[in-house]
Order: sequence, then C-alpha cells, then structure tokens
Amino acid sequence: MGLYRIFFYALLFFVIYKIVRFFSSLNKRSSSSQPKQKVSGKMVHDKICNTYLPIEDAIKEIHNGNEYFFCSETCRQKFLQNKN
Ligand SMILES: [Zn+2]
Repeated sequence: MGLYRIFFYALLFFVIYKIVRFFSSLNKRSSSSQPKQKVSGKMVHDKICNTYLPIEDAIKEIHNGNEYFFCSETCRQKFLQNKN
C-alpha cells in the first residue's frame, strides 16, 4: 500500500511541476516579447481626433513656436485649415 501512495504523490508533484513550468513559460514569453519594440513610452495628444499616441508614431508640427502632434497627415491638414 505504501508504495502506491509514494507513486501517487510523485505523480501529483510531477503534474504540479509541469503546470508551474507551463505558466512560468507563458509569463516569460509575454514579458520578453514586449521590450523588443524601442518605445520611449512618451504619449502625445492629437487635439483633432482627441487621441493619445506614442511620440514615435506622431507627426510633429511647429506652429507659432508651439509643438503639435497628430496621428496622421489628415489630422495635420485639418489643424492647419483651422488655424488659417
Ligand atoms: Zn488624429
């Protein structure tokens, strides 16, 4: 009887070990895939369509000494039309 119990616990620990390994590999994969992108993390506001976007993706426009950021050329054109 004792031998079966040892076998049972060995199997139980093996399964737990496998589950823990599975979840830790999932965490490792999701956390290591993100920092590959070089992003400063700085967000800028597009006033035209009222969205926030990473500064790397934004179109910069300097108007009267102020910096403005836009998500697309369309928003930039709208901004310039409104200014004139
Ligand atoms: Zn926009």
